[in-house]
Amino acid sequence: MKFFNNKGKIKLEDKENEDKKLLQSLDDIFLEKRDYIVKMPEEGECVLACLSGGQDSVANIGILLKEFKLNVYPFFINRGQSNYKHEKRSADYFNELYKKDFPELYHDYKEISVMTPGLEYKDLLREAKKKVTSIPLRNNISYPARNPIIFLTGMEYAYSLMAEGVNIKTMFASHVSSDGSYHCSQTWTRTMNLLICQILNDWEWQFISLPIETAFGNYFDKDVYIKWAHENNIPLYKARTCVKKFDKHCGDCPPCWERRRKYKELGIEDLTEYLFEMSEKMPTYYDHEEEEKNIK
Ligand SMILES: [Zn+2]
Repeated sequence: MKFFNNKGKIKLEDKENEDKKLLQSLDDIFLEKRDYIVKMPEEGECVLACLSGGQDSVANIGILLKEFKLNVYPFFINRGQSNYKHEKRSADYFNELYKKDFPELYHDYKEISVMTPGLEYKDLLREAKKKVTSIPLRNNISYPARNPIIFLTGMEYAYSLMAEGVNIKTMFASHVSSDGSYHCSQTWTRTMNLLICQILNDWEWQFISLPIETAFGNYFDKDVYIKWAHENNIPLYKARTCVKKFDKHCGDCPPCWERRRKYKELGIEDLTEYLFEMSEKMPTYYDHEEEEKNIK
């Protein structure tokens, strides 16, 4: 499996959520400030990684442990998500698995509560999203402050670990080339890195999403994560993809739909049990809302 110079089918140039010119300007700032854009930490270095309970974040942490032998401190955000207990179940499962397999390198995840979007306007925001008539734009903006808040919180947690003698200067997200939101893009990742360096007044800080890290020559999709997990016997089907409240995966929300499509494309058996048939076309986040209202 290639983790550098790996470009998949989706090109950065074709992505609506990427801004190549802005990315270049940001890269130039880093080159001027520290002579490199980002670099992979050395074996044994301490790093922070987001553990959302989803497939990408789970596989990403496995790769940081096994392929790069990094000391990984994961964090899990309780942000008031409607599928909280399912994501938490997944986080707990893989926490135990990685602790058993990598006792020297893996550290228990830290659960951090920070509500985003704010509950006071979450319903309004959902309605506002529906008012944007062009569907790609609506999906690309999503909950715009969500990922910035999640990762700024992660950075702050990493910074706090200094009090315990843990020195972290690199944080990992696990965004992939098919992620459509502006706050999942490589352009956003670099923008955040700039902000982090500025507010910490520390130009050694790095924020990296390995799959889309252009400084590493990458722009690959979740198929690399799925294949890696399959080859390394990581039961990725236990990760939570579905954004709905159902106990089982619904199988027909946008993330479920993408997950099923990828497994089919790869010819890897998907052991996940799904509630609904897969729609022919990519579903919206508002499908199956009625069925969802009927569960407690
Ligand atoms: Zn679903």
